[in-house]
Amino acid sequence: MNELSLKSLDKFVDPRLTADGQERASVELGSLKTLWFNTGSVCNLSCENCYIESNPQNDRLAYLTTGNVASYFKEIKMLKLPTKLIGFTGGEPFLNPDFLSILQLTLENGFDTLVLTNGFRRIERYKKELQALNRCFGEKLQIRISLDHYSPSIHEKERGGRTFGPTLKTAKWLFDQGFRLSIAGRAIESESQSEAVQGYQTLFKKYEIGLNANSSEHLVVFPEMDLDKDVPEITVDCWGILKKEPEQQMCASERMIVKHKGNINPSVMPCTLLAYDPQFNLGSTLNSARKTVPLNHKFCAQFCVLGGASCSSTA
Ligand code: SF4
Ligand code: SF4
Repeated sequence: MNELSLKSLDKFVDPRLTADGQERASVELGSLKTLWFNTGSVCNLSCENCYIESNPQNDRLAYLTTGNVASYFKEIKMLKLPTKLIGFTGGEPFLNPDFLSILQLTLENGFDTLVLTNGFRRIERYKKELQALNRCFGEKLQIRISLDHYSPSIHEKERGGRTFGPTLKTAKWLFDQGFRLSIAGRAIESESQSEAVQGYQTLFKKYEIGLNANSSEHLVVFPEMDLDKDVPEITVDCWGILKKEPEQQMCASERMIVKHKGNINPSVMPCTLLAYDPQFNLGSTLNSARKTVPLNHKFCAQFCVLGGASCSSTA
């Protein structure tokens, strides 16, 4: 085992203290503004850097049912929570056999609704149903497609061969049909954010997709993340040093529902990034999940506090 692996082993163990004995940072839930549902971890792609380790075989997160989702909507109402936005992620949400009925239910309950999809083939089966939802609910429904890069070769290096064209075709169809569409993109290490934005703008123009790459409503560009990188732990002093606030982290205003394989009830996790680690299981109800979250995972440092960007908006 090399020195780097040994260092990593000592970290992210004790929820209260870091490896060098300092008080670990934690985040309190303020108010639940956004509730995510992970519809299931199975995906029709096997991306190299999928932080949730999805692929066609990974069913560690079972499909959520319409009934599962409905019970959380009831709880939102019962607790009078200020939740406005419901987000769906996976895996690929359109693989879940209940997904269209879940979408309908969400929109009928008046929530703003954001679907993160890889846009690769599966969504095409539901064109008619989606058009009907778009006619009824318009702007309330937002679909965000992950296009890992504006160049086909870099996108396909991450997502697999012959994925770029069909994904772009879906994006164009959604745009042409008047859906509220956005793209989740990525800037590779060797390029700046503005170079990436320019690259996406050129692509949109070439394919006559009328999105404005300079608007965060239309394009979100995430930095490239090396999931094997050794990262420091976050202590209570880091907030001041880094000039960051606990309130800016996703777990201060969001939660994610998952159903771990073999469990009857779904569980509430603090954010979209941590789907499996049992220490982050906050119970099965939103009420039980009003807990302070110790930042005891490398993603807390890598994606959130140091990265300044979460992967929550990609699929
Ligand atoms: S990964 Fe980020 S959002 Fe999730 S618990 Fe850690 S700090 Fe909070
Ligand atoms: S990154 Fe998205 S599309 Fe790729 S395997 Fe993961 S869930 Fe599927």
